[in-house]
Amino acid sequence: MICPVCKKDMFVVEYKQIELDYCHSCKGVWFDAGELELLLEAGGLKEAKQTLGDVLKLPEARTSEKKRRCPICTINMKKVVIGGEKGVMIDACIRHDGLWFDGGEVADLIKIISAKATGKKETESEIMGFLKDVFGG
Ligand SMILES: [Zn+2]
Ligand SMILES: [Zn+2]
Repeated sequence: MICPVCKKDMFVVEYKQIELDYCHSCKGVWFDAGELELLLEAGGLKEAKQTLGDVLKLPEARTSEKKRRCPICTINMKKVVIGGEKGVMIDACIRHDGLWFDGGEVADLIKIISAKATGKKETESEIMGFLKDVFGG
């Protein structure tokens, strides 16, 4: 898959049978539809899960940031803020192909979700460790 930001080939990253596409150049991450949910579940953060359908129901974010094209269908994606008011702005494909996170945004989202979840120390550190390894550096 080609990165929607820098148009370079992305790399496939695997975590507990979830395959993500990651761009080494801009550190962006593509989640196919359903993969965000799977990742949150794998991290024991099931109650925080958001489906792509939920995300697409959110209002379009007000921003001057350039629209990004979906790496699958090439249609302009919708910018939405997830994780509450002070959440992260992501790009979602309106045809439900998936979600795009710019560099650092996945880690930001997990921090927000982890802060809301209680009694999840172990799985939290596990998933944070993975995300830090892959996306944090
Ligand atoms: Zn890139
Ligand atoms: Zn698409």
